[in-house]
Amino acid sequence: MSKVRIYNQLTKNIEDFNPLDEKNVKIYTCGPTVYSYAHIGNLSSYIYWDFLIRTLTLSGYTVNRVLNLTDVGHLSSDADDGEDKLEKGAKKEGKTVWEIADKYIEAFLNDFRSLNLIEPQKIARATDYIQEDEELVDRLIEKGYTYETSDGIYFDTSKFKTYADFADLDLEKLQAGARVEFSNEKKHVSDFAVWKFVRNGEDHAMQWNYRGRPGYPGWHLECASIIKKELGLPIDIHTGGIDHIPIHHTNEIAEVEAAFDEKLSNYWTHCNFITINGEKISKSLGNVYTLSDLKERGFTPLDYKTWVLQGNYRTARNFTFEDLTSAKNRRLNWRNRIAALYQSSRMEHEKDPNFKKDEVLELAKRNLGSAKILAYIDNSNLSMEDWEYVDELLGLDLINSTPDITKRLISKINAREVARVKHDFRTADQIRDSLVKKNITILDTAEGPIWQYLS
Ligand code: AMP
Ligand code: ZN
Repeated sequence: MSKVRIYNQLTKNIEDFNPLDEKNVKIYTCGPTVYSYAHIGNLSSYIYWDFLIRTLTLSGYTVNRVLNLTDVGHLSSDADDGEDKLEKGAKKEGKTVWEIADKYIEAFLNDFRSLNLIEPQKIARATDYIQEDEELVDRLIEKGYTYETSDGIYFDTSKFKTYADFADLDLEKLQAGARVEFSNEKKHVSDFAVWKFVRNGEDHAMQWNYRGRPGYPGWHLECASIIKKELGLPIDIHTGGIDHIPIHHTNEIAEVEAAFDEKLSNYWTHCNFITINGEKISKSLGNVYTLSDLKERGFTPLDYKTWVLQGNYRTARNFTFEDLTSAKNRRLNWRNRIAALYQSSRMEHEKDPNFKKDEVLELAKRNLGSAKILAYIDNSNLSMEDWEYVDELLGLDLINSTPDITKRLISKINAREVARVKHDFRTADQIRDSLVKKNITILDTAEGPIWQYLS
């Protein structure tokens, strides 16, 4: 059997995936900072990883996956300055930081479910791991990797010899480039806070006492602590967005490997970014679309998931509403093909020799080639069993309520036929109109009337 192949940032190559354990795979996904609604760019990453999980599962692995929720404020820039994201959200909405976190966690989990994403085995809130964070900082201090400044405890990246490797960083160039504004007490521009102090007079709602003074953990620490506690070192696959490579993941690796002398993860896989109409997703451009915005324009979360699966996680994508419309129509066409199967006797027998489930899985295993699978489905005749398999692999909820709808509709369709035979067109039209309200249309074909979804 062929192996699943994925990109690995450690080697900068697409590689065969070989887990530590033959059967069980440990995966960690960096989750959202919960201070506002997730936009469609954010959500694309979880869709790609859902496809990874489904591919691994159908390839015979049992997946143990952890996703974190960053509910402790980290700062609005990846470096250790700028405003705290959660504090900013709280001020804006007149709520406490804890209320903000709860509100957006719930919203995120709703989005997750509406995209039919397989729920991770563990969803970990960063604030539940403060003790582990403190123990990690203790270790880093004891092992001589840190130094203190007036605003926190910093990791000295010059002491971690392989620091630049993961992201191919040119540290000298970085240092030179930063010289002008580099006036704080950090020794090197790449050094980062593992613990920040709450300074006198500073208003910081989330704080914990550590070594006799109030403070809060640096952002990268939470993933390190959660992985160590929930999955154990090393893990098989760590996923995130490409923005995480140069800072967040580079720092996670430094913290874990320096503290525990163990490798953090064997594979690191990142997804590329989405632009909208050729532009970066940003508040100032007014294009921070959420799933609710798509719904308002008549699209379902699964239409969006279909659009995402038309591409590959490694490729930058440009989102347009025209392309989303095509994706929506593609999914509609598939659902209607399934509806047609339910209404015909072909359901049990007619098997297309051109469509093979193991070929579909093979495409998935090749660096998550969902786009090719979608094209393959367009061009073959699938049996019900094939559709069930496709639904399991893509998670597009294609079959959903089709059998129930068919059962409920048969009597209505028959009643309409009876009315038509009697030339009672008023009743026939009434039945048709009532079905339109339920998103169903009736087509009269040579084989008799069949129903279809309208959208
Ligand atoms: P955040 O909540 O800001 O940490 O972002 C959550 C996830 O969304 C991260 O993994 C980011 O890498 C990812 N992300 C942010 N913006 C985009 C985008 N425009 N396209 C794709 N992924 C994104
Ligand atoms: Zn992380």
